[in-house]
Amino acid sequence: MVTLDNVSKTYGQETAVAPLSLTVASEQTTVLIGPSGSGKSTLLRLMIGLITPDAGQVTFDGQPLTPATVQDARHRMGYVIQEGGLFPHLSARRNVTLLARHLGWSEDRIAARVEELTDLVQLAPDRLAQRPDDLSGGQRQRVSLMRALMLDPAVLLLDEPLGALDPLIRADLQGDLRAIFQELQKTVVLVTHNMHEAAYFGDVIVLLRQGQIVQQGPLQALLETPSEPFVTAFIQAQRHTLLSSDGAA
Ligand code: ADP
Ligand code: MG
Repeated sequence: MVTLDNVSKTYGQETAVAPLSLTVASEQTTVLIGPSGSGKSTLLRLMIGLITPDAGQVTFDGQPLTPATVQDARHRMGYVIQEGGLFPHLSARRNVTLLARHLGWSEDRIAARVEELTDLVQLAPDRLAQRPDDLSGGQRQRVSLMRALMLDPAVLLLDEPLGALDPLIRADLQGDLRAIFQELQKTVVLVTHNMHEAAYFGDVIVLLRQGQIVQQGPLQALLETPSEPFVTAFIQAQRHTLLSSDGAA
């Protein structure tokens, strides 16, 4: 569905992504994890074509991402960032429906889809009239998720979607998110720096360091056959988050 072939990206002297190749497994949840600055967000932005690689090729659905294809590809990928990225001056409903309106969907079709999504993400319908600032952090992220899902994208990209939430709300939304992923059977790429979250969501875990993939595979493989000491050190350092029982870390 999404592949990166020898993709690299630098900012001045800073290597955000070293040449790396990655095939995102279809209809599974791939978790990108690694220390701060390891290139996780940059990888997501490359996948959705918000930035272009210095070298290498990103493909979506077998098609190279180019200026000619990126717009269409973006309509088939949903993207959620940590702070939600909602427009503050628009109601939640307007935020969710903006792109569908732009694409000329009928009012009936929009209303039906909004109702479906409100139900899916378990948002109280009266919240849709509110502006983002009048919603709680958890509600904002539910609205962001609705917006990302509005066009029923094939791929969902989530950049630390729970990172800004306090622990109880975070645990709540974690459970709902996983249920939603399972129900939708979508290809999901989720960024986190929290090992508990990686274990909770990830069919495949991709561990990054300094713009490179250190190891990828199921959590079990990282635990049992680490490719190098860094893998074990990274997991050990986060052991408390793995063992935390409330899932909030
Ligand atoms: P992560 O999401 O894993 O914390 P990022 O992908 O945001 O990491 O960043 C990877 C590296 O690239 C960091 O060193 C960061 O400073 C650098 N970087 C990312 N985006 C930019 C940018 N727009 N301008 C300059 N440097 C950037
Ligand atoms: Mg980041």
